[in-house]
Amino acid sequence: MRFADIIGQEELKRKLIQTVKEGRVSHAQLFLGPEGTGKLALAVAYAQYLNCKSPSDEDSCGVCSSCQKYNKLIHPDLHFSFPIVNKGTDAEKNICAAHMKDFREAFLADPYLNYNDWMQAHGAENKQGNISKFECYDIISKLGLAPFEAGFKVLIMWLPEYLRDAGNVLLKIVEEPPQKTLFILVAERQEMLLTTISSRTQLVKVHRLGIDDLAKHLELTHELDESTARSVALLAEGNARLARELLNHELGANEQLFMDFMRHTYTGKGAEILSWIEKAADLGREGQKSLLQYGLHILRECFLMRFGSAKLARLKGIELDFVTKFSVFITEGNVADFNRLFNDGIYHIERNANARIVFHHLANESERLLAGAKKSTTVQA
Ligand SMILES: [Zn+2]
Repeated sequence: MRFADIIGQEELKRKLIQTVKEGRVSHAQLFLGPEGTGKLALAVAYAQYLNCKSPSDEDSCGVCSSCQKYNKLIHPDLHFSFPIVNKGTDAEKNICAAHMKDFREAFLADPYLNYNDWMQAHGAENKQGNISKFECYDIISKLGLAPFEAGFKVLIMWLPEYLRDAGNVLLKIVEEPPQKTLFILVAERQEMLLTTISSRTQLVKVHRLGIDDLAKHLELTHELDESTARSVALLAEGNARLARELLNHELGANEQLFMDFMRHTYTGKGAEILSWIEKAADLGREGQKSLLQYGLHILRECFLMRFGSAKLARLKGIELDFVTKFSVFITEGNVADFNRLFNDGIYHIERNANARIVFHHLANESERLLAGAKKSTTVQA
């Protein structure tokens, strides 16, 4: 993985390269940022650059013996830890090294993958993954060995949020790693990290992708025209993974389904709501999430419209029609509740909750919120 393979993030790439050139590579770092920013890919590209035998000022060469192995994630001094589902008490099977083939395939197919994508590739079914004590002991023993090749030994821990208390056995190695060892944690949610570990790392913030950077990328990779690419990048709020998901699930279908949802819960017709829930339940998990993401976006636009925000220019066609009509009912009194409602929906769908129950709840609450807004609109009128 070269820096050039990663969307945008130019400033961060420059900073990372600078640390290598100036010999200021901190031995334990925390790459922290939201989903779809490319932080795992950046960690790999950084490690590759650090070990490249003929790096340029902008990137690793991509062709030296070290880069060739890095390109395939098979360098003997490159290790990964990530959440896995533990089975039984056989330590050999419960370490990440036993799952590297699947992990390599999943990452190389989509360097922007998230936890759920990985769990699916890993065949976790509905079980929760974690980074267990077996893995922690394996890390200590792997990092204790001398490097196989010249250069840095690197351990990239993806999603240390799933490290339980067992992670505390890593304190010493994070604080005082063996020479020429680099430990990179790649995380999304700081509040879920063991503070004992994260406090011993240097923070590298990975920001959301610039809309222009993502739009340009989508234009090239998905053969989109400029304006469509931009709408998708905006809708995904700079999340490269979400952008691709939105493209895979056809914007049009979400558009209609979400607008139907708002109309049915506004009029409160039970039969129509029930048939809508069946349709949404049939979408599959990714489709359901993408529908809810779309809903969040439109609700936000409704709210902005109400307050005459300049950002309106991004809407057109039936979206603009819908938002113009519906913005009356998205008020200061309910916008936060709507926001929470849809975000909770996404949260529960991601965790395999029963979709019918999630959408029932969503419909009931939306009906209640809209009824409240109708009432206050009538009173004002
Ligand atoms: Zn190279």
